Amino acid sequence: MIIIITPDEFKSVSEAAREDGRAPDEIRPLKIEAGILERADGSSYLELGGNKILVAVYGPREAQIKKLQRPDRAVIRCRYNMAPFSVEERKRPGPDRRSVEISKITAEALRPALILEKFPRSVIDVFIEVLEAEGGTRCAGITAASVALADAGMPMKDMVVACAAGKVNGKIVLDLSEEEDKRGEADMPVAILPRNKEITLLQSDGNLTQEEFEEALDLAIKGCLKINKVQKEALKRKYGE
Ligand code: UDP
Repeated sequence: MIIIITPDEFKSVSEAAREDGRAPDEIRPLKIEAGILERADGSSYLELGGNKILVAVYGPREAQIKKLQRPDRAVIRCRYNMAPFSVEERKRPGPDRRSVEISKITAEALRPALILEKFPRSVIDVFIEVLEAEGGTRCAGITAASVALADAGMPMKDMVVACAAGKVNGKIVLDLSEEEDKRGEADMPVAILPRNKEITLLQSDGNLTQEEFEEALDLAIKGCLKINKVQKEALKRKYGE
């Protein structure tokens, strides 16, 4: 059997060079819900491709530990945790180097958006629970945490939204899957405040030339802006316009 494809179809096939059929600038299917836990002050649930992430926020409330208190502002603490059943090979429960690092960079990525001066001597706790992981969980966790913080009524200058770009088979692509992260040449998670595009997280694993870096950063920011729309829709669904 001979299949004839038009030049346009050929172009779209060659552009969809990724294993899951996505175009280079396409994110995985994304779903976000705000305010799904009764007992937390704020919460969210996010699915991005095969990632399933739940976030709970407690606070701002008075910091019980004196050492933690700051006289002029609140302190944000994050705990990123991967469930043992969230990955192919069972993960040992409890913190490890990777989760401690991701917890730290998550707090740093979120902090610039928060108006912490309103709550002296207080603490805000953000719990990020990865129920299923499929690459890009730190970005997905930051995106979901921002929605949960807004749901908690935390005063914010803007949302924080994160998305990675990277290089797979020599091509700059958006939102790497676990498979692409493993096989690819580089992965670069980026978080921004969408309004002024201030970068609050930039990590890079792998090698990129300066041109590739600039292309990847541009693409990651475009991805962030798409994801920000879904964050806003989730909050609108919960709270109206
Ligand atoms: N992963 C895994 N076991 C682990 C840690 C990670 O299978 O103990 C997988 C998981 O799917 C994760 C991916 O590897 O999303 C990439 O991990 P990375 O450390 O690059 O962080 P992420 O991309 O999730 O932010």
